[in-house]
Amino acid sequence: MNILKRVLIGLSPRKLAECGHLTKRTDFLDEGVLLKMPKNNKGTFDYCHECLKKMTIKCTWCQEKIYIGDRITLYVAEEDFMAPDGAVCYNEEKRQYVGCLSYDCADSAADIQGIWMPPGKVMRIPSPFEKALKPESLFLFQMFPNILDNIKSLKALP
Ligand SMILES: [Zn+2]
Ligand SMILES: [Zn+2]
Repeated sequence: MNILKRVLIGLSPRKLAECGHLTKRTDFLDEGVLLKMPKNNKGTFDYCHECLKKMTIKCTWCQEKIYIGDRITLYVAEEDFMAPDGAVCYNEEKRQYVGCLSYDCADSAADIQGIWMPPGKVMRIPSPFEKALKPESLFLFQMFPNILDNIKSLKALP
């Protein structure tokens, strides 16, 4: 990021967010992680950057940070899996854990299953695979059964 942009962010006005703290429209959540705060329907902000920063979690699988607004995976852990500190379990029964969608961590960008949202919860969005799994497209998977081996997210389907 160039210096001018940093200076402009430093000078930008602060407004009172619903969380009770003053916040800028655009500020850093972390080193190199800039977030433009979305306005709510009252035209103000729900949270300040400091509050959103506290909602940062760690990826279950690679321990990279997952920030508010990040796209996430919900892979299923093995039976005897011990979740590391800071990992978030999405569904205890199915042993689905929140993971990041980084190149090293997710098998494919098609594994996206949600977005990490305030105040610290998963907003589910169907993965492209789940969307494709309409009854009429099931025959495709019967015709090409071995592609299923490459789609980890299948395990996470209900
Ligand atoms: Zn706040
Ligand atoms: Zn990860």
